[in-house]
Amino acid sequence: MRLFVSALVLACAGTGVVPAHAHDPARQVLAAGDGWASAGPGTSGGAKAPAGNVHVVRTRAELVRALAAPGPRIIKVRGVIDANTADDGTPLRCQDYETDGYTQAAYFAAYDPAVWGWEREPEGPLEEARKASAKKQEATIALDVPGDTTIIGHGRGAGITGGSLRIHNARNVIVRDLTFRDTRDCFPQWDPTDNSPGSPPGNWNSLYDSVSVQRSENVWVDHSTFTDQPNPDSAQPLHFGRPYQVHDGQLDITNGADLVTVSRNVFAEHGKTMLIGSSNSSTVDPGKLRVSVHHNVFRDVLERAPRVRFGQVHVYNNLYEGAQTYSWGVGVQSQVYAQNNFVRGIAPEEVVYNWGGTRITDVGNLANGRPLSFVDAHNAAFPDKALGTDAGWTPTLNRGLEPAHRIRHLKAGAHR
Ligand code: CA
Ligand code: CA
Repeated sequence: MRLFVSALVLACAGTGVVPAHAHDPARQVLAAGDGWASAGPGTSGGAKAPAGNVHVVRTRAELVRALAAPGPRIIKVRGVIDANTADDGTPLRCQDYETDGYTQAAYFAAYDPAVWGWEREPEGPLEEARKASAKKQEATIALDVPGDTTIIGHGRGAGITGGSLRIHNARNVIVRDLTFRDTRDCFPQWDPTDNSPGSPPGNWNSLYDSVSVQRSENVWVDHSTFTDQPNPDSAQPLHFGRPYQVHDGQLDITNGADLVTVSRNVFAEHGKTMLIGSSNSSTVDPGKLRVSVHHNVFRDVLERAPRVRFGQVHVYNNLYEGAQTYSWGVGVQSQVYAQNNFVRGIAPEEVVYNWGGTRITDVGNLANGRPLSFVDAHNAAFPDKALGTDAGWTPTLNRGLEPAHRIRHLKAGAHR
């Protein structure tokens, strides 16, 4: 038997004969032990799709059709799909969604704090018109992904611009090899009562995440790139003295989502990067939101890398570099286990932020190549917000865990 197997391997190697699909990334399943998405039934996406359920898509309309086709399904995205495109292929500008009298100028005039004040959120006809206009954009750019799906970039440069991939109420989904650019909300909402610590009052808030995972299990997001380019926050104007924020999350995991692995992605040039758990008062999140975040590059992202409520979240072997406000947000009932990450050029006491949590384990991490406890640095700098140093669990689904020094030159993102 042993001889037979060896001969077969040699024969395959010699003739180039390989089992069908063995090297097709669209057919790959998440390896055993590769983070929380390998728990339970594991994550295979559309790997079992019959040939008739494999779709190559080049436009938003083709993508929408493929998402609605029978599963299990594999969807290969070729080139860049602009989600702000009508069914007939016409590109859509923000003004094309405006309805019921909404214009930016009218909205700014109606809710200028000099007129409206700072006490209450906008309401009335122009706020209703803003919501109606936003609904029109949402109907175009929101792309709902059903279970048993693999959606993957096909060829170099594949991606989705301006879209929001929604994995909601789905089980078993794989997203790979895609570049997500500039998921922008044309209709940010002004909230004069939303105050950021240390900033002037009020905030502009937007709605769409490049990828949103809600009420779903066994989801693997891998080898993708997330960026606000070509429309970064730094290019947005100030209105009412606050940044006109057209972006929300890059990859938000909320509302009872569970068993998610986020691996080998690049998160770049963004504000609110990865939110795990969106509400302190959630009744569906306790016991869920178990996520593994590994071998990702976080570059020039301001915050939430990730910000966690409730979940047991294993953050390991990631590379952090460039400007940021904080990376690991420790929220209510969260259990972050931060292990063997490489952090470069970020003030050690600003890596952790206490958003009402109590505990976080950090072990094996490096600051500019030197061993350092970021929790100790945080606790020394902010003794009134000190955190416990034991997350209360020990991750076991950590395939590929390696020492932090190997992460210094990590390569990640789309286009392997
Ligand atoms: Ca938001
Ligand atoms: Ca969000």
